[in-house]
Amino acid sequence: MTAVIDPQAALDTELLRDNAHLIGGEWVPAASGETIEVLNPANREVLGRVPRGTAEDVDAAVRAAERALPAWRDLNATARAGLLFRWAELIDEHAAVLDQLESRDVGRPHWGPPPMAGQVRFIAGQADKVQGVSLPTYTPDVVGFTLREPYGVVGAIIPWNAPGPMFVTEVAAAIAAGNTIVIKPAEDAPLAPLALARLAMDAGIPAGVVNVVTGYGSEAGAAIPSHPGIRRVGFTGSPVTGATVMEACARNLIPLHLELGGKSPQVVFPDADLSVAAPAIASGITLNTGQICAAGSRVVVLRSVHQEVVERLAQAMERISVGPWHQPVNMGPLINGRQHERVMGYIEAGRSEGADVVVGGGVPRGAEYGDGFFVSPTLFDNVSPDMTIAREEIFGPVLSVIPVDDEAEAIAVANGVDYGLVASVWTEDVGTAVRMSRALQAGQVGINNALGAGVIGGPFGGYKNSGFGRTMGADSVLEWTQVKTVSMRGATRPGN
Ligand code: NAP
Ligand code: MG
Repeated sequence: MTAVIDPQAALDTELLRDNAHLIGGEWVPAASGETIEVLNPANREVLGRVPRGTAEDVDAAVRAAERALPAWRDLNATARAGLLFRWAELIDEHAAVLDQLESRDVGRPHWGPPPMAGQVRFIAGQADKVQGVSLPTYTPDVVGFTLREPYGVVGAIIPWNAPGPMFVTEVAAAIAAGNTIVIKPAEDAPLAPLALARLAMDAGIPAGVVNVVTGYGSEAGAAIPSHPGIRRVGFTGSPVTGATVMEACARNLIPLHLELGGKSPQVVFPDADLSVAAPAIASGITLNTGQICAAGSRVVVLRSVHQEVVERLAQAMERISVGPWHQPVNMGPLINGRQHERVMGYIEAGRSEGADVVVGGGVPRGAEYGDGFFVSPTLFDNVSPDMTIAREEIFGPVLSVIPVDDEAEAIAVANGVDYGLVASVWTEDVGTAVRMSRALQAGQVGINNALGAGVIGGPFGGYKNSGFGRTMGADSVLEWTQVKTVSMRGATRPGN
């Protein structure tokens, strides 16, 4: 977060072709010929154009993926793993370019080397460890076992907040299992995915195994789950769009996983080390301008430390510097005008429903913010659990403090929302940590950490309305396989 990038440096186009997406190994424009402008949200700089793909492009991509499927599925799994490892090497070699592409596209200040190569390696290692089981049989003349097979051609739709990591998580796991894939990046941040697809091709992953169709959600996106050739889907984004995608999958009777965001609680007990907790909570809600599904957006605090926690959070939030992606700042702008309006609407709702603004509550003033979708880090105190800002995902740098009387109330409040993605607990007491780990309804629980840090290969996914299915864990490749039971009757004696 401290690097300064030259804002004038030309966007490295070595990995990108203007107005081209990837279908069957070819970089082609949309069938319609139409394009979408890609912007840097910090200054509305035009970074390039991508094809405005529609159902026609998705259909071409599905057909290319169908052609590539038999050879890819039948390639020995160690060879598939090898190609993924080579992809990871190329990702490492181009880490700086990928980082800059994603930073510019999302408008995010540099946040260190992205974890993509490691994620691809972790998944590649699973490719040749996909195993079935042997099954007990009623009689000795039968042998029974299971095979784990790919679904075939699969689809994925990813959001704009961490486009590179989302791309590799879906693509690597799906293709490691022997599927071929059609994936649509978000219109707001398609550049890192396109560059990663280029590197997949350079790594020797055959044409048609990875197909990227850019375009709008309602056009290219909607065409993926409704295409009869798609056999499974991965979706990350909002609950409303997730439900639409699920309806389309239901009509085609195909499975999917959904990752739909959160309203993650940070439960702070009186015995917590507040010198660690407060800055971690403040940086957790401002990293990527709060546009992270796992962001801890509700501080559920025991009353005896309420005042002290608010003071420390206020200090930490005030220290978060805001600016364009190329400055050594902590936080950039929001992704687009719609998101800006949405976040400002939530800040207004917090005020009008009676919460107290302690820090921020508006947009930063200054010439350098003029063209960007900036909003100030905002801290609300005395939020009650029924307020809009305590229940809905804001997807911005807005933190709500909700005081509670005891552990039971802390659990009730922490669990009292529709979401259940991540929950954090800040305590030095192992008994409290154990009880809370059990009690919290969330796919991930962090004790003394804000974003589930420090673990390699933790399965990631939601409870309740945060979705279902798990990515990134040791089972992530298995999730993209289906089980076939084979029973084989033979003869127990020669000659029969
Ligand atoms: P979104 O509409 O759910 O977008 C996610 C992805 O779905 C994008 O690639 C989008 O394409 C695509 N999409 C949109 N409509 C579609 C449709 N009818 N069929 C298939 N795909 C479709 O999310 P958003 O509008 O960008 O953001 C709104 C809110 O969603 C945020 O404020 C936040 O609360 C939540 N969100 C959550 C996550 C997460 O990590 N769980 C990520 C992003 C957003 P286009 O963007 O190109 O239209
Ligand atoms: Mg969108």
